[in-house]
Amino acid sequence: MDSMSVTGICQVCEAAPARHACPRCGRAVCEDHWNDAAGACAACAQGRQQ
Ligand SMILES: [Zn+2]
Ligand SMILES: [Zn+2]
Repeated sequence: MDSMSVTGICQVCEAAPARHACPRCGRAVCEDHWNDAAGACAACAQGRQQ
């Protein structure tokens, strides 16, 4: 098993393949729901206001 690879479906939209694992909430998310600048999923990135 490759621990660095994310498998499965995005847990936010459940429509696209997951590409990243959020270090905050642990969810696997697709490119659309990954905030590269924040290094977290879109939900976690939004939760923290600036
Ligand atoms: Zn998604
Ligand atoms: Zn998250």
